[in-house]
Amino acid sequence: MEPLLFELPTNTLQRVASELRCHPTDERVALHLDEEDKLRHFREHFYIPKMQDLPTVDLSLVNKDENAIYFLGHSLGLQPKMVKTYLEEELDKWAKMGGYGLDVGKRPWIIGDETITGLMTDIVGANEKEIALMNGLTVNLHLLLLSFFKPTPKRYKILLEAKAFPSDHYAIESQLQLHGLDIEKSMLIIKPREGEEILRTEDILEVIEKEGDSIAVILFCGLHYYTGQLFNIHAITQAGQAKGCFIGFDLAHAVGNVELHLHDWGVDFACWCSYKYLNSGAGGLAGAFVHEKHAHTIKPALVGWFGHELSTRFKMDCKLQLISGANGFRISNPPILLVCALQASLEIFREATMKALRRKSILLTGYLEYMIKHYYGKDKTETKKPVVNIITPCHIEDRGCLLTLTFSVPVKYILEELEKRGVVCDKRENGIRVAPVPLYNSFHDVYKFINLLNSVLESAEIKRKMNVV
Ligand SMILES: *Cc1c(COP(=O)(O)O)cnc(C)c1O
Repeated sequence: MEPLLFELPTNTLQRVASELRCHPTDERVALHLDEEDKLRHFREHFYIPKMQDLPTVDLSLVNKDENAIYFLGHSLGLQPKMVKTYLEEELDKWAKMGGYGLDVGKRPWIIGDETITGLMTDIVGANEKEIALMNGLTVNLHLLLLSFFKPTPKRYKILLEAKAFPSDHYAIESQLQLHGLDIEKSMLIIKPREGEEILRTEDILEVIEKEGDSIAVILFCGLHYYTGQLFNIHAITQAGQAKGCFIGFDLAHAVGNVELHLHDWGVDFACWCSYKYLNSGAGGLAGAFVHEKHAHTIKPALVGWFGHELSTRFKMDCKLQLISGANGFRISNPPILLVCALQASLEIFREATMKALRRKSILLTGYLEYMIKHYYGKDKTETKKPVVNIITPCHIEDRGCLLTLTFSVPVKYILEELEKRGVVCDKRENGIRVAPVPLYNSFHDVYKFINLLNSVLESAEIKRKMNVV
């Protein structure tokens, strides 16, 4: 991937701390970083949940009027304030003119999705013709696999990463079954080395080199939902294509989190959801990418009327004029209410830019990493304090904003105690996933999180539990 040009987070923290004549862990550093943050006003575009409204909070431990510390953007992004306005515009139109709304207004419903596709181009690094906004993520994955996975007796495997997201795993299994293939033989899964959590790029490339001739499709996630590992999309794409495979990416955790250049990287196809980092609300409108180079060769396997050219779509003559490119994969008419929600968020991304967001994200997550290592690094074992381990890669190029933490004490208890104190994050397997999101999280959020983690880990209860473990 392109080299990142930035000051290392630790250097920034040390520089700021020495300017302020304090230690990087001092609260003043967090406050200063927020003051200097040119993106900080974007937080005002979102509803930040209040302590008192969270179902898990213990009101005796928090100030009920304060904002919660929302680090769950990897699972469900917060609501942009403009969602309501845009929804009301379309509800109003519907109330006032019914079916005429299909053709008139700011978002004629017939082309509702197309009115916002342009807002997605910079986020994924693609041109408009390569992007369709439709369906849900897993549905799009199926539709794309139906066109790109054409197994032959020699080339019939799908390569994916170990511990893929279950929905992707099932999608692949069922696609193999659809072709009558044996799952054991056809599903090639790359595991990390013994004792490691993170897949090494060199190992991925080696498997592609060795097995590539029998692989029809490589389907990887862009950024792993559990470990937070960002894969080298460009290198994997090049290696796979050199072997004649099609390469697709599930970008659920990469989109809106890291910079993407799908077109320039030559990725064959990709899909993503929009309710995680893209803040479109649960079940929001998902995306699909089909590279321009396939516009006239790769056709949708399943077709509906919204894949038909708009100019003749309503002639209703049952003679398909298929749209070339991604929009030909659309089957049904677009859900206008979902378009409204997504538009509200994408407009904020357009204003903030992915480049600036990523720059802030590197420092924000770097700050979180610095604080965790400072208080709970492995070298602290002799102090008898709990150890907090970060399983997410430490290289900035290999991760996004998410860090996954494992603990030397029971993780379930830690999550419960954090939730009582108004920290919103989640647990997968043995790790707690925390995602400071550059659009609406602050450096002070990270500072407060670390303080709360301190108080949880120092509580009498945890000490008792440590003796039990
Ligand atoms: C979130 C996520 C999904 C969810 O799929 P939906 O079809 O949107 O319900 C699928 N795959 C990955 C990798 C995800 O992170």
